[in-house]
Amino acid sequence: MPLINSDDRIPLKALLKRFVLIYLSVMAIFLGALMLSIRFDDQRRLERLEERESSLIEITKWVISHDFSEVNANLRVVAGQPALRWYLDSGNAAQREEVANLFLVLSREAGSYDQVRYIDASGQEVIRVDYNDGSPAIVPQDMLQNKAERYYFRDTLKLNQGETFVSPLDLNIEHDRLEIPYKPVIRFGTPVFDSQGNKKGVILLNYLGGELIQFFRNSMKMGDGHSAMLLNRDGYWLSSSRPEDEWGFMLGRSERTFGHDFPAEWRDISAGEQGALRTAKGLFIYTTVYPLSLGQHSSTGSALARAPSERGLTAEDYLWKIVSFVPHEALSRAAFYNQTDVRILFVIACLAIAAAAWIVAHITLSRERARADLAASKARYDELVRNSPVGVYLLHIHADGSMRLEYASPVFCRILGLDANAVLRDASAAFAAVHPDDRDRLIRSSQEAATSLKPFRWEGRFIIDSETRWIRISSDPMPQPGGGSLWSGVVSNISERKKLEHELERQARIDVLTGLNNRRHFFELAEQELARIRRHAEPLSLLMLDLDRFKSVNDTYGHAVGDEVLKKLGEVSLHTMREIDILGRLGGEEFVVLLPETTGERALEVAERLRSAIADAAVPLEDGSLLRFTVSIGVTSLAATDTTVGAMINRADAAMYRAKNEGRNRVCGEGIA
Ligand code: GH3
Ligand code: MG
Ligand code: MG
Repeated sequence: MPLINSDDRIPLKALLKRFVLIYLSVMAIFLGALMLSIRFDDQRRLERLEERESSLIEITKWVISHDFSEVNANLRVVAGQPALRWYLDSGNAAQREEVANLFLVLSREAGSYDQVRYIDASGQEVIRVDYNDGSPAIVPQDMLQNKAERYYFRDTLKLNQGETFVSPLDLNIEHDRLEIPYKPVIRFGTPVFDSQGNKKGVILLNYLGGELIQFFRNSMKMGDGHSAMLLNRDGYWLSSSRPEDEWGFMLGRSERTFGHDFPAEWRDISAGEQGALRTAKGLFIYTTVYPLSLGQHSSTGSALARAPSERGLTAEDYLWKIVSFVPHEALSRAAFYNQTDVRILFVIACLAIAAAAWIVAHITLSRERARADLAASKARYDELVRNSPVGVYLLHIHADGSMRLEYASPVFCRILGLDANAVLRDASAAFAAVHPDDRDRLIRSSQEAATSLKPFRWEGRFIIDSETRWIRISSDPMPQPGGGSLWSGVVSNISERKKLEHELERQARIDVLTGLNNRRHFFELAEQELARIRRHAEPLSLLMLDLDRFKSVNDTYGHAVGDEVLKKLGEVSLHTMREIDILGRLGGEEFVVLLPETTGERALEVAERLRSAIADAAVPLEDGSLLRFTVSIGVTSLAATDTTVGAMINRADAAMYRAKNEGRNRVCGEGIA
């Protein structure tokens, strides 16, 4: 697990921003789809409503027409009765009685005429049967009225034989007053003639419009909030769900019209035959009813008891409008989005979308962060690899033994003085610069590591830019699934360390003051040389040197000057002796020289030369004068009995003491062969 300092948490602000973005996008789509389905649902509902209401309207329309033709048929039957003609011809009271009875039968049987009358040409009611709410009765003579000024009388009397007058549907007026409770009536009338063809008066049937209206109300009863209206041609309500709206034209309330309440809608409805209107106020489904048949007459009628109708109307002008009205609120109440469970579902959907948006925001942000972290960590890694003092590489050793460098950091190439492309192409290029003396060792140990899959550690020299560089390679294997192994390793330039090591080693061998071998190293070298000489049966000699009266040098000039003398002695000795001679400082001011391949005689000569060279040397003193010094030298050569260098040293030491005793600054031999 790499140790990387990074904050794992996603900042709340970023998360919120992402969440809002996703949520709004999804909600926009969701709401768009919802709006579409609302429109679709609205349209479908309206179509269904239109269909249902249109068929109701059609039935109602048919019933109205049917009622009208039935009344008309009754009228025709009454007007065509022979008994009536006889009466008109004779004016006979008995005949009159017969006609009155006929009227009574009609009134009772039909049950829909408030009055059945014969009015003579002067407007005087002559025969009249009142329905009396189901108890029809002939009205006595003295109760009969004159209707000469009523518009329906005048309009009927104007007609020719066989023609019918149908009054507008209005309210009955009795004794010059609106009858209370309101009694909606339509008066059907036709002129009647005697046998000579003289117009004698009119027959009038007061058709009880209330029944028709009641039928209308019953058949047009609709669901919640719907209302059905029956309007006359001027837009006055004949039937409304609000009774106070009705009969405006009879009550002098000209503002109580559909056109007043719904001006725009009325423009369309009054002009059109039938259709459906969807406006801000709601849905209007309407049709036009023409209850009269061709040739029947009507007039505008009059709300006043004693006024003529304004003008006559033809059958085509006599029209009603049936309007089914569903207010906007009722429409939307029925809409699916106004249902409680749909609203609950909507809220749940919104919450679910919010939750999903939150999760998606979290996941996408985490992924992006992971990607960014990866990029950052790669950048960090690259930086690390670039700046690392060690080179990094990844070497793939395939099952067949071939190699491929999968990765080599720039430092790797720099340390080994390699061209990155060349070494990536051919991994063996990495070994080209290995020091010839180290190449075999490198190949051997790398082959060993490759077969044993043990960590590979190697230190050796490369020659880079004709300069020797110490390199350390450390690599660990990862066995690969398909055979072969992947070695991840580091190379480092250890030249500096090696230099230090060599220096330390040298310091362990060399006497610091004089630069000669120290006692321990001298013995090592001397023993090796002794063994070699013995193998080759060659001569070997040894010199022991001791400074003369050195204590007094120290005492007189100080220890530092003494050291200078020792140093000088070392220098002169190194100069004087051969390369193969082994010099050493045994300790204090005692020195030793091993002379390989040198006989005792020859060694005496060498010692003499050395002694005189030392006697000629000098150390400058502070006062500018030169301090001279001498040595006494003991010489010996290898004896057959000598097993160690120590034995030779003992003899040389003895010879040296002899030289001291003989006056110093001289050479003495002991066991010279
Ligand atoms: P002799 O001629 O008999 O050898 O007389 P000597 O004074 O040299 O006597 P000896 O060999 O016994 O004395 C050795 C002296 O060398 C003692 C010590 O003060 C001195 N000495 C030993 N090692 C060092 C050293 O490293 N530096 C200095 N300055 N003096 C040393
Ligand atoms: Mg001494
Ligand atoms: Mg001495």
